[in-house]
Amino acid sequence: MIEGKLFINGSWISSKSGETFPCLNPADESQIATCASASKADVDSTVLAARKAFDEGPWPRMPAAKRGKILNKLASLIQRDADELAKRETLCTGKTWFDSRKIEIPFAGQVFAYYAGLADKVGGRTLPNREDAFLMTIKQPVGVMAAIVPWNFPFLLSAWKIAPALAAGCTMILKPASLTPLSILHFAELCNEAGVPPGVFNVLTGSGSTVGMGLVQHPGVDKVAFTGSTEVGRIVQAEAAKTCKRITLELGGKSPNIVFEDADQKAALRGALTGIFYNKGEVCAAGSRVLVQRSIYDGFVEQLGEKAKKLKVGHPMEEGTRMGPVISQAQLDNALSFIQSAKDEGARLMAGGDRAKGLDKGYYLEATVFADVSNDMRIAREEIFGPVLSVIPFEDEKEAWEIANATPYGLAAGIWTRDVSRALRTAKAISAGTVWVNAYNLYDPGLPFGGFKQSGFGRELGIEAMESYLETKSVWVQL
Ligand code: NAD
Repeated sequence: MIEGKLFINGSWISSKSGETFPCLNPADESQIATCASASKADVDSTVLAARKAFDEGPWPRMPAAKRGKILNKLASLIQRDADELAKRETLCTGKTWFDSRKIEIPFAGQVFAYYAGLADKVGGRTLPNREDAFLMTIKQPVGVMAAIVPWNFPFLLSAWKIAPALAAGCTMILKPASLTPLSILHFAELCNEAGVPPGVFNVLTGSGSTVGMGLVQHPGVDKVAFTGSTEVGRIVQAEAAKTCKRITLELGGKSPNIVFEDADQKAALRGALTGIFYNKGEVCAAGSRVLVQRSIYDGFVEQLGEKAKKLKVGHPMEEGTRMGPVISQAQLDNALSFIQSAKDEGARLMAGGDRAKGLDKGYYLEATVFADVSNDMRIAREEIFGPVLSVIPFEDEKEAWEIANATPYGLAAGIWTRDVSRALRTAKAISAGTVWVNAYNLYDPGLPFGGFKQSGFGRELGIEAMESYLETKSVWVQL
């Protein structure tokens, strides 16, 4: 059993209230850890430590290249400890060992390496606008940053915030989701090993209402980087406004994955399946609405159903498992209620639709596909955040755009076609922060990711994320 403490100022500390909470393994419902539940007093002392590290400590003042060197060290420690990090990730989330060990932990390491390189490469401008003055902008770290992270990619989404914030010279406090704190607690230990000074990186486990909200409201925090549901994002935005904090919000989605009649259908089928079933659909950018052109619709839907039925649902550590359990009983119940609503509204069930057979312990759900969905049904409108796919027919390009954009969200989209003009026209027409053409769910540390509309604002990854942890200062030197 893992005992998780708070990581404050480089040390492991129990909560001042002495309260703890259990962590469960969604694969078998067993308890895997007891974690400290931080109190309001812990939030205050941690902000003080991060504040001191920023206002007086070496981190923002050291040469940027030295910060880069420490981030590089973190990248190699992540690689060294990839087994332990992946084990903790899979234990908490139920994601397959393959996805944790081969995809997500290594990608988090690459993100650290990317920002290690970027640390000393972001600068200001000089403006040749006046004879009588020298005008320039300089970049300075925003200050103390609070990162609030969800449970679907606990380590990876943390890395997306930690690496650029530290590279920029910020100090920070990370609050993981209560269901999934274990990988980031191991990472905190790596920060000490890599030489991150005390107070620069802190972890507070505990509830959203006490720790998350405590950080959002705290006057000692300069910026909040939030990833989570649109519902909580709205609350965070409203509260952060009271102290005019800088914020970035990465929120929910209901992303369209559009298959045109001229697509490479084999590739599109693969893309439609991974688009929704990777990480059991618990992906903000999940392609949860597959739009298929009417002329190829019947055959495509049949094949989708057949292939979904063959996806192996099972224990996440078992070889060959494509989908582990969803994260919790609440998520399972939530997905089942969407399935019921789809049946009630007349959608055609092509695969799944129930708890996975023969897996009585744990929160296993079948890969579920509904055809003949119309965009006004509840399953097509609301984010399910589970392995439930809606397939919607369309007649022509214009209708595809209309359906794709008929959502309050705008996180991502997929386009499957061999016609490059159609691909580019559609990429421009869709309101989404990321558009994949003949691909889905692919990420690169340099390519920014984030939302349009109610999927949030600000960008993770790339130079754009680094910019969001920097202030621009204008300097006017009269000659
Ligand atoms: P959530 O909004 O319930 O929780 C996210 C985080 O906020 C957690 O750490 C939680 O403890 C904290 N929190 C909860 N209430 C809070 C409050 N009042 N004040 C401050 N913090 C609070 O989301 P979740 O259920 O953990 O994650 C699923 C959601 O996250 C989905 O909607 C998904 O689309 C979204 N998501 C978005 C992205 C993206 O990059 N756009 C990535 C992953 C997940």
